[in-house]
Amino acid sequence: MADKNDKVAENIDGVWYVDNNCISCGLCISEAPEVFKTNDEDKAYVFHQVPADDPEAKSAMDSCPVEAIGNDG
Ligand code: SF4
Repeated sequence: MADKNDKVAENIDGVWYVDNNCISCGLCISEAPEVFKTNDEDKAYVFHQVPADDPEAKSAMDSCPVEAIGNDG
């Protein structure tokens, strides 16, 4: 489960976020390229917020191998 107290710094405010457990696998960016991108350290972060029930963002969350994607919605 993602930790909202350990968010990647670049996340924009909103329901979706990535925490620092991200291992830079790139799956979330493939699943939801309008929501996730990578920072200078190749960690994913949320650059565009979508609703909490957005199907692509939810699919990305389900695909993340280390459960680094969180949803506070
Ligand atoms: S799917 Fe998870 S581990 Fe992979 S890049 Fe996205 S947040 Fe990081």
